Amino acid sequence: MIQKKICLFGASGVGKTSLISQFVQGIFSDKYLTTIGVKVDKKLIECEQQQVQLMLWDIEGTDRYSVFQERYLRGASAYIIVVDQTRTSSLIEGIDIHSLAKQVNGCPTVLAVNKSDLEQHWHWNERQLTDYQALFDLSFNTSAKTGDNVELMFQQLAELLVAEHQSDD
Ligand code: GDP
Ligand code: MG
Repeated sequence: MIQKKICLFGASGVGKTSLISQFVQGIFSDKYLTTIGVKVDKKLIECEQQQVQLMLWDIEGTDRYSVFQERYLRGASAYIIVVDQTRTSSLIEGIDIHSLAKQVNGCPTVLAVNKSDLEQHWHWNERQLTDYQALFDLSFNTSAKTGDNVELMFQQLAELLVAEHQSDD
């Protein structure tokens, strides 16, 4: 069995905890419970005829001026930057975190533009967004509420990691 640690980063309230609970338990809640510190969830999936244990690290929302918690990236195989398409500031924060994180760990990266079930409410046009998406290996428009693209995102990331794992052997 292959184990892969995946960190989720992003401003508070973007939906990191919700994406994990949608993926792991198939549950969505409207209640907002702030994550304190870090919480780790596991999910075993099958990928390329291999069992892959995903260790999902849900890291407390970083606020713009607080210190980026780079220690969580130790041993990570990938990280997902989550942004909320109803809040422009969350994309700026996500890009900031990404530029710090990629200096620490050169692993594959994913951009999750979350809350796709809500009306888009930010001032990025398609071209700017495409430029930002190009900074990541994979990018998805997700909804932790409806589940749209949530499973697909984790599955495609796992496929990328398994392919990488095999080429390391
Ligand atoms: P975190 O701070 O990044 O972990 O964010 P949470 O997962 O706690 O979510 C913050 C709030 O946004 C909660 O009230 C969630 O119910 C809500 N939320 C999260 N994801 C979505 C989504 O995809 N769509 C909608 N409509 N609400 C969401
Ligand atoms: Mg949380």
